[in-house]
Amino acid sequence: MDVNQQIPLFSAVAANAGIDFSEPLMRVVNRHWYIMGEEVKAFEREFADYVGAEHCISVANGSDALEIALLGLGVGPGDRVVTVANAGFYSSTAIRAVGAEPVYVDVDDTSLTMCPASLKMALSKPAKVVIVTHLYGQLADIETLAAISRSAGAAVLEDCAQSHGAKSPKGQCGSFGDLACFSFYPTKNLGALGDGGAIVTSSADIAQRLLTLRQYGWSTKYHVTVPLGRNSRLDEMQAAILRVKLPLLDQWNSERRSIASRYCAAFAMLPVKLPASLGDDFVAHLFVLRVEDRDAFMSYLKVHGVSTDVHYPVPDHRQTAYVLNETFDLPVTDLASSKLVSLPCFPGLTSHQIDRVIEVVSNYFDQGV
Ligand SMILES: *Cc1c(COP(=O)(O)O)cnc(C)c1O
Repeated sequence: MDVNQQIPLFSAVAANAGIDFSEPLMRVVNRHWYIMGEEVKAFEREFADYVGAEHCISVANGSDALEIALLGLGVGPGDRVVTVANAGFYSSTAIRAVGAEPVYVDVDDTSLTMCPASLKMALSKPAKVVIVTHLYGQLADIETLAAISRSAGAAVLEDCAQSHGAKSPKGQCGSFGDLACFSFYPTKNLGALGDGGAIVTSSADIAQRLLTLRQYGWSTKYHVTVPLGRNSRLDEMQAAILRVKLPLLDQWNSERRSIASRYCAAFAMLPVKLPASLGDDFVAHLFVLRVEDRDAFMSYLKVHGVSTDVHYPVPDHRQTAYVLNETFDLPVTDLASSKLVSLPCFPGLTSHQIDRVIEVVSNYFDQGV
């Protein structure tokens, strides 16, 4: 098969088709104001309004958002922070960076997001923060998880890096926690043309701390009043791009969801596990199946021109860079990590390509495996 016909897992060309980037970029170029200017300020307002939070503090990327959010909540050495182990080590990186200890809890087998019963058990010992990741675009059972966390005295931090725009009747993801983190990495549901991130919160106190932490710990220029400040800023060009893309986010999410719906309808009778929801609480950041013989499945798809990947192959508690103080028993996380496989699902994927993915997946199972 011609390599040019390979269906990619994500295509920036397709996802950004039809957007005029020159107008916003030239607006910034001609203004000659590159950092902390009008575009950043306007984007922060627009994004806070979209999420339904009072404040948005933009930062350089989603990982910085998580780390600065933990610092903003006063997390430091010795503190326990609860998180899941199936979300690509991003929360673990932030927890380690501030010197805290990760406490891993298992995920629900249907949604692959944090399991409330497991959280309850983990909180029998005190923890400072619970990080809830809305994985693959699926809103976690956030109201239940937040209630459990708060009754145990832990703050709630939502990781919305894969779930911009997912919502329940009670609100948008990012509006449930004490604060919430977003990434605008180019492949995310709302992506910049480079790195970007943001933290949203409705607490004026936390917002003030975050503003200080993202810029050297300054309360005012050259006056360092908060420790552990750094430089982590979104730049004007990325903010201008994000302002053009934000009004298109809901429409792109619908497109992602309709691709996921076509896959789910086509694969309903196959021996695979499918995503939990096709409603507004799912924005199909990734379309993730669970299959029995993953290596065989992935090689068959590759040979037949369909790209796949695994999000994520090694759970956080099995990564080798750090020594854990506690042992964790995470049977759902472990089993899922050996079966997960992601299929192409992004705005701009053509109807023909979707049909081709469906055909190849169906043919794989028709061979009698
Ligand atoms: C992408 C991602 C991040 C990190 O964002 P970056 O901008 O790449 O640093 C954090 N959490 C989750 C769940 C992500 O998918």
